[in-house]
Amino acid sequence: MSSNAPIAVNRLSVSYRAVEALRDISLVIRPGRLVGIFGPNGAGKSTLLKAMLGLIPNTSGSVLYHNKPLMQQLDKVAYVPQRSQIDWSYPATVWDVVMMGRVQKTDWFRRFSTTSRRVAAAALERVGMEKYRDRPIGQLSGGQQQRVFLARALAQEPEIFCFDEPLAGIDQKTQEVIFEIFHELVAAGKLVLVVNHDLGETIAHFDDLILLNQSLVAYGPRRQVLTKENLYRAYGGRVMFAAGEAA
Ligand code: ADP
Ligand code: MG
Repeated sequence: MSSNAPIAVNRLSVSYRAVEALRDISLVIRPGRLVGIFGPNGAGKSTLLKAMLGLIPNTSGSVLYHNKPLMQQLDKVAYVPQRSQIDWSYPATVWDVVMMGRVQKTDWFRRFSTTSRRVAAAALERVGMEKYRDRPIGQLSGGQQQRVFLARALAQEPEIFCFDEPLAGIDQKTQEVIFEIFHELVAAGKLVLVVNHDLGETIAHFDDLILLNQSLVAYGPRRQVLTKENLYRAYGGRVMFAAGEAA
């Protein structure tokens, strides 16, 4: 079962040496809503996910879940990094990748239980990739790779899902499968955070938007966030799309 606890991001700032990537971000992110993190290239979207999970150090602030640092509870989190950050030459099959999602639930002797195999097989089937089980991951298309990583996340059975640009460079069918699964997870009470920089029509899938440009521009229900003023503050003159939907 999922808990109903929110993630509380409190005054989070992150710098890479001289570059200040995130400034003073405060957010309360609740489960049961599909939450999109939007902003232009370099806005700090990936940095926000990584800093929330403690994968990079923050300069100040905290990220709490059940009143404890989220980074101490990564067994409750599935994180799928941006595709460009994954080493695709790694000699793993589709099945290997999905079973990696079960490592934390594996016993002392590193034996995968029958349950783990069943959960992994169901996850692979859910994303429509069961026929590719023995295929090296590097030989798949972008959309297929994204599905496999989604299956790995599902196999983990976490409370919190974090996806970094899962929709970048994928086919239409994969996009539909991915959103269908996101909506199911949200309906099941999971906390689902999705980075997306493209303000295209897929934005309509999101319940809440976090609009970022180094600092927090706006956060809330999609329609409230999508104002011309907010979009201008986040994207500057680069906004063409979605302005039609903006108030
Ligand atoms: P986004 O995901 O929104 O495109 P990032 O979080 O990747 O943005 O980057 C935010 C800012 O931090 C950018 O200015 C980027 O150049 C900088 N940055 C990201 N990663 C590093 C790094 N490892 N070292 C130095 N600067 C970085
Ligand atoms: Mg990024």
